[in-house]
Amino acid sequence: MRDTRREETERGEDATGAVRWDAVPGHPEWYEPDRVAEGLRVLAAATNRVQAARAGSLLGCGGIVHDHGGAVFPAAAAAAPLLLDIAQHGHAAARDTVLGLLDEALSFVPQPGYTRVATPHGEAVRICCAVAHHVRSRSGFLAGLGRTGKLLLADAAAHWRFDVQECVADGDDTIAFGWLSGHLPGGTHVAELHGDGTVSELRAVTLAYPTGWDGRENCLRVVGRSPRELPPGVRLFPARCGEEPRG
Ligand SMILES: [Zn+2]
Repeated sequence: MRDTRREETERGEDATGAVRWDAVPGHPEWYEPDRVAEGLRVLAAATNRVQAARAGSLLGCGGIVHDHGGAVFPAAAAAAPLLLDIAQHGHAAARDTVLGLLDEALSFVPQPGYTRVATPHGEAVRICCAVAHHVRSRSGFLAGLGRTGKLLLADAAAHWRFDVQECVADGDDTIAFGWLSGHLPGGTHVAELHGDGTVSELRAVTLAYPTGWDGRENCLRVVGRSPRELPPGVRLFPARCGEEPRG
């Protein structure tokens, strides 16, 4: 049976679902929880560029990222849906600030010991992939913003996820049928397998079709693994994602 209280603590949420930023993990010398709470409050209420810039400074310099250090904190994953709400309903200046912060959250590097977060899609998902999920969930809104929104969606697409629904054996390999989120290019990839509370590495997965795009059923060849290692419900993510800056 799942420990609900533990899950709440890992996500930094209290009983009402509000985020307790001081309960979200982060490097003690870099992460400043108070800056997240204040930054989100100022950004949500911003009615001009000066206020949005102040919020951006709070969030971008020790809140959810540290722009001088090029670091992203676990708080970025918890803040992403709140930031996207502000982008949708707040002032245009606040929206631009959100797009910039999310772009940094996708491209900055997490600090050792603070690289993963608990999400509904896995208990130890890399921060960038968790942020990308939230970005993709607002794809209609973001695409409607034009070039900036589309660029953010394109950045998020690289943090793909494959939800396994069914597998069959093919020699020593497994063919996994499932649902692809994001964009998985052709070729062979190293992937992470997220199972029931565990993460392991798959040394080679290839798409059965030349390229895979967001929101499509697809199938993957998983080299050297048997179907029983990929039961329905497991998920695949890019391996070594977020370990170095993306170009
Ligand atoms: Zn990622």
